[in-house]
Amino acid sequence: MEELRALFARLRLKEQAVAQSNAATRKNKLLKLQQELLDRREELHEAMRQDFGKCAEEVDLTEVVPVILEIRHAIRNLDRWMRPAKVRMPLPLIGTASEIHHEAKGVVLIVSPWNFPILLTLGPLVSAVAAGNCAILKPSEQTPNSADCMERLIHDVFDEDEVAVVKGGPQTASSLLTLPLDHIFFTGSTRVGRIVMEAAAANMTSITLELGGKSPAFVTDSADIESSANAIAWGKFTNAGQACVAPDYVLADKRIADELVAALCAALARLTVNSDLQTARPDMAGIINDSHMDRLESMIQDAVKRGATIAHGGNADHTSTRLEPTVLTGVDLESRVMQEEIFGPLLPVITYERLEQALDFSNRVDPPLALYIFTDETKVADRIMSRSKSGGVVINDVGIHFANPHLPFGGIKSSGIGRSHGHAGFLAFSNQRSVMRQRLRRPPTRAFYPPYGETTRKLIDWFLRFVG
Ligand code: NAD
Repeated sequence: MEELRALFARLRLKEQAVAQSNAATRKNKLLKLQQELLDRREELHEAMRQDFGKCAEEVDLTEVVPVILEIRHAIRNLDRWMRPAKVRMPLPLIGTASEIHHEAKGVVLIVSPWNFPILLTLGPLVSAVAAGNCAILKPSEQTPNSADCMERLIHDVFDEDEVAVVKGGPQTASSLLTLPLDHIFFTGSTRVGRIVMEAAAANMTSITLELGGKSPAFVTDSADIESSANAIAWGKFTNAGQACVAPDYVLADKRIADELVAALCAALARLTVNSDLQTARPDMAGIINDSHMDRLESMIQDAVKRGATIAHGGNADHTSTRLEPTVLTGVDLESRVMQEEIFGPLLPVITYERLEQALDFSNRVDPPLALYIFTDETKVADRIMSRSKSGGVVINDVGIHFANPHLPFGGIKSSGIGRSHGHAGFLAFSNQRSVMRQRLRRPPTRAFYPPYGETTRKLIDWFLRFVG
């Protein structure tokens, strides 16, 4: 703990200089980060292959590319984001000038999960650096090779008193959470999100929580079945389903459900053509560890015991820690696979007769991070949106909203608090300081000073009637 306190004190000392840095300096840091990421691609590929058997193409597509996009977006927009924003004033405040200044929060902590170790650590860091903060990064202990790689990369880009990597597990994270931080950006499970929120309360530290949940995919009778199946299969089985934006389960109109399941199985056969369980270099990532393998296998067994049918997959290989993409039909709604966040390559397809039934079912729990709607009818999409809540919605595709930095990203209640990406990420790491300048020696507001009398009352009445 002493070491962490000393580290924090060093970052505190550096805080003001970093906060006062101009846009050009921040952009240079981001450019350097981009260059190091590009130069170290092979090292990152190898680290993630070792951590959970993720293939190089998927590392590039789901870790390197989105961070680079985030960097480029920040560089293009940083001058505008940093500029004080002039705002208008109400009539009685005539003679004043008002602006919003965006100031760095100070020393921030970024705690990240294992499932996208680079993206979910360096993505928030881009926003923190753009906003002029010093940062401590605490990557997941489950992906030690990626954490080592990031430590080397950060060391080569930033002064060690400006951005530091602290490696360790829950205990290290708990110690970090006791520091009087200026913001905590946490990505991970809802369970740990609660712990983070409680710890933040002790220091009244602001938080962004990017959490989990069960994101549904509605497939209505007017959907294009083949393209829906392709998008769902890709969105669910990328990173072996270990993705917060993966559709957790499908709610399919009964009239198209059989056709959809057949199309899903065909799509999976195409996606996994290089990837049987023993393949040395499969396209599909492995499961992070044995305990998650056991958890997922027992979810399949529980579903089958309660009457579910395995329409595709179902096999596991413990030596390679790989699980076949598995589609389940006829699933009892009380099964674990429908009660817990799956976070793996299992896809239950639940059928409904009336859309309202499906909405009632998905609405019985806190709003999810994402909600997917497959339909050709705008009014059906509108109906689903008006009867539901979620952090984000994608119509006729899966997960791609994550890649648009113009869209704020985040959840609601158990799926998260606050927003990240692009300008929203910059704002998460900034204090919006309201600055007002009085330019008149005798401002009109003096008319409202005491002693109060008839004139004051008339002015108040006039004010209430005419001024807004
Ligand atoms: P996790 O909550 O177990 O761990 C996340 C981080 O918290 C790790 O760095 C870990 O060391 C730390 N941690 C663990 N226990 C802690 C404790 N008691 N106190 C303080 N810190 C602690 O999550 P995970 O298993 O690494 O990741 C999977 C979860 O993350 C899933 O629930 C998934 O939905 C969620 N997730 C959300 C998003 C999003 O953007 N909303 C993205 C990816 C993953």
